[in-house]
Amino acid sequence: MDYFAYRQGHLYCEAVAVEDIVREAGTPTYIYSRATLTEHYRRIAAAFAAVNPLICYSVKSCGNLALLRVLRELGSGFDVVSGGELFRVLQAGGEPGKIVFAGVGKTDQEINQALAADIGWFNIESEEEFWNLERLAAAQGRTVRGALRINPDISSRGTHRKTLTGKKETKFGVDIERAAELFEQARGASHARLTGLHLHIGSPILSPQPYVEAIGKALALIEKVRGGGVLVDTLDIGGGFAAFYEGHEAPRAVDYAAAIVPLLQERSLRIILEPGRSISCNAGILLTRVQYTKRGGRRKFVIVDAAMNDLIRPTLYESYHFIWPANPGPAREPANRLSTLRISGDEQVDVVGPICESGDYLARDRWLPAVKRGDLVAVFSAGAYGFTMSSQYNARPRAAEVLVEGGQWRVIRRRETYQDLIAGEV
Ligand SMILES: *Cc1c(COP(=O)(O)O)cnc(C)c1O
Repeated sequence: MDYFAYRQGHLYCEAVAVEDIVREAGTPTYIYSRATLTEHYRRIAAAFAAVNPLICYSVKSCGNLALLRVLRELGSGFDVVSGGELFRVLQAGGEPGKIVFAGVGKTDQEINQALAADIGWFNIESEEEFWNLERLAAAQGRTVRGALRINPDISSRGTHRKTLTGKKETKFGVDIERAAELFEQARGASHARLTGLHLHIGSPILSPQPYVEAIGKALALIEKVRGGGVLVDTLDIGGGFAAFYEGHEAPRAVDYAAAIVPLLQERSLRIILEPGRSISCNAGILLTRVQYTKRGGRRKFVIVDAAMNDLIRPTLYESYHFIWPANPGPAREPANRLSTLRISGDEQVDVVGPICESGDYLARDRWLPAVKRGDLVAVFSAGAYGFTMSSQYNARPRAAEVLVEGGQWRVIRRRETYQDLIAGEV
């Protein structure tokens, strides 16, 4: 679900024709729809309302300040994984008490920064980290809450190995067998209180079932730990809800909730969710312009001005993004955005960028209507892990970001310049 649609042969974001945006803003440009972002947040909030969760939007999926402000106004908390993300959230006016901080390698500096900000929870990924937190909290004379990240050792089909986190032998969390013992030992701490359990099993998780399995294990552990007299009052079930890339593969928020909510009711647990992709993915597209087309052997290449430095997901995860011209004309509007879409006269192409790597592509063997030099092309479902993963590789200034709100649009991050490329160099 999103507010990008074709009308009379032109692509609109809400009430704005995207060609009008890039006439001024140039290409490549990320374009976000505020209504879409809001809708996906609200759907999750509504679906899980029965357990009154704290929703902590995952900043790493898409962290522009303007988007964080939109989410903050909706009541969202934030899931951060670095001191830099914490800085972003505070700049956007995020409430410190609604921030959770995860990550296997938090530095002393980052922990001190989070202590000073008085964030809600530290998601603890190892025993050593817990005792380091205790030491630093004591030095600042503060009491803090920790949630132990457990590794529930489940796998989920369809999740790329690079985004799978809930299996043993990934670097995340502590083995579930060891968790009870760690809770017991943590009672000896005076400043860090280990009162929560955290899991994040990977992304995207294409069915509710892995959550049911992981939460079942977490609840059994909580029972056991509580039986030993340890207070556990918080369960953070992480993120990983899917979004729409290839069509209708993602369960809806209500589908996840239907399976998950009954497990969590009447447990005397504060519930935290950390959705990222499911809120931001479909709220953004990447708009790019065709530079050249050419043939190489039997392949046809469409060379565009966006590249793997702008959107690395196809290269990194073999991920699929629906791509279509932004101004195809009424006869060639896409009837849907399924990966199976074909129209008469289409041709099979590789959509590639200008970077000097053969891994630099946005799509391979893709059926598209014929495009020519100068045409605008939209890459859909690019809101999550798009701009945030971008780089300046090949000395390419990063793309601009634009936010559309109804009939209005504004630049929320200007396109980088050559000066930005060398700004920190001395
Ligand atoms: C990345 C991440 C998330 C968000 O994952 P999505 O798939 O974007 O929902 C949530 N929690 C943690 C700890 C993460 O690392």
